Amino acid sequence: MKQVKYIFIISLMALSSIIMPGCQNKEQSAETTEVSESAKAELSALIVTGQNNHKWEVSSPVLKDILVNSGIFTADIIESPAQGEDMSGFSPDFSSYDLVVLDYTGDAWPDGTKTAFEDYVKQGGGVVVYHAANNAFRDWKEYNVMTGLGGWGGRNEEDGPYVRWKDGEFVKDMSPGRGGSHGRQHAFRIVNRVTDHPITKGLPEEWMHAQDELYSELRGPAENMTVLSTAFADTAYGGTGEHEPILMTINYGKGRIFHTALGHAGSPGNNPAMECVGFIVTLQRGAEWAATGKVTQEIPEEFPHFNVLSSWKKYRPLSLQELLNCLKDYHQGDNRSCMQDLTNLIRKSASDESKLAELEKELITFLGSSASNDSKNEICREISLWGTKASLPVLKKLMKEEDTKEMARFAKERISGKYSN
Ligand code: ZN
Repeated sequence: MKQVKYIFIISLMALSSIIMPGCQNKEQSAETTEVSESAKAELSALIVTGQNNHKWEVSSPVLKDILVNSGIFTADIIESPAQGEDMSGFSPDFSSYDLVVLDYTGDAWPDGTKTAFEDYVKQGGGVVVYHAANNAFRDWKEYNVMTGLGGWGGRNEEDGPYVRWKDGEFVKDMSPGRGGSHGRQHAFRIVNRVTDHPITKGLPEEWMHAQDELYSELRGPAENMTVLSTAFADTAYGGTGEHEPILMTINYGKGRIFHTALGHAGSPGNNPAMECVGFIVTLQRGAEWAATGKVTQEIPEEFPHFNVLSSWKKYRPLSLQELLNCLKDYHQGDNRSCMQDLTNLIRKSASDESKLAELEKELITFLGSSASNDSKNEICREISLWGTKASLPVLKKLMKEEDTKEMARFAKERISGKYSN
């Protein structure tokens, strides 16, 4: 039994050593995250909200966090008057910003505001169309050209085609029918159909998105539009059985628009679609591309894979202290996401001795704390890979405890071994 366990550990270590070298270039993104927002944030974003058939009070602050957490944006939120109130004075200063993020579906904007927005985009302004913003303004022709595809609000074949993925290419389908539907919320796989666009370049070609609405049967002008990614709307969840467009880019005048159909707002603390690292990172990349035409952000280690969901509960990677706090009551069989995130954090520091020394100090304190034995065993296993003499005293203490003695001894022997040659 013991032998089996050790083989498992050794294969984990082998895996870690494979992962580690490739992580060197990820340091940049770690640095970007750590640099205070104001130091590097050179792009400005305005989030337009205040009316929505969704909880905009939840989504707009999250969108702001996501943009600011990218390290390259500052973000303001402007709220419209409430539904039914006088909109005549609603006139956001679009042209002062590099990016406008639309989290709005509701009463019509005043004509002057609509014209100002059209001019802003024509002259090169960037736009993110987020989820239900594509429900808005069926009657505003230019808005629909900018969003490419939309849904609900009475949309049908008069609003434009469906865009369907058939035999390896996108085709426009003018069949009559409603615009906009979705089945039951579920986690689903996103397939990137364009992999050399700045937004999708380097991402896994297929990745799992957390529980969300899978927007389907969108229809609209679909002019100057590139569908970057689709998702299959499985009939088992009430879907259409089609590969639905999910991430799009649209060019309008000199302006660039990134349209994400993802990110249905939940409630604070239970917001899986917006916590999905895939949603967050594609939004950050799409926002940068819309604002500048380029994407400079690194792809984080935590980006979801073919079969692996990944979430950031605070819309960013947790800090070391937050991760240790999450781990302190860990018991075997619990969700391992915090342990995985800790491993990722450590791998990012793998080539920086002083950072590793700081991490080791924190882990030693953790091993000496009243945290659960299972969590301490996890940390012993981790520290066995790269720990130094500094860890030996606490490991010796843990060797005296029944529930930690095996792993502590293993870690101690492995670390001591490095000094005996
Ligand atoms: Zn929704």
